[in-house]
Amino acid sequence: TYVVIDNCIACKYTDCVEVCPVDCFYEGENMLVIHPDECIDCGVCEPECPADAIRPDTEPDMDQWVEFNRKYSEMW
Ligand code: SF4
Repeated sequence: TYVVIDNCIACKYTDCVEVCPVDCFYEGENMLVIHPDECIDCGVCEPECPADAIRPDTEPDMDQWVEFNRKYSEMW
């Protein structure tokens, strides 16, 4: 899965939301999040983010961010 990290906080861009083929972006408290079970790992959103806030969970230390994204995707 891909996840959104804290570079997104207070970001006003939604370019990622528009390109996602499965609509798996959700509004968190002050940033967007990706539902880790809905993301199909296509990678299309990553280069669209001007804040460099979208990362694959294969990067180091991403487990916390996966859980954070899951929590806020399911909150509302
Ligand atoms: Fe959506 Fe693809 Fe980005 Fe996953 S990697 S959030 S499916 S655009």
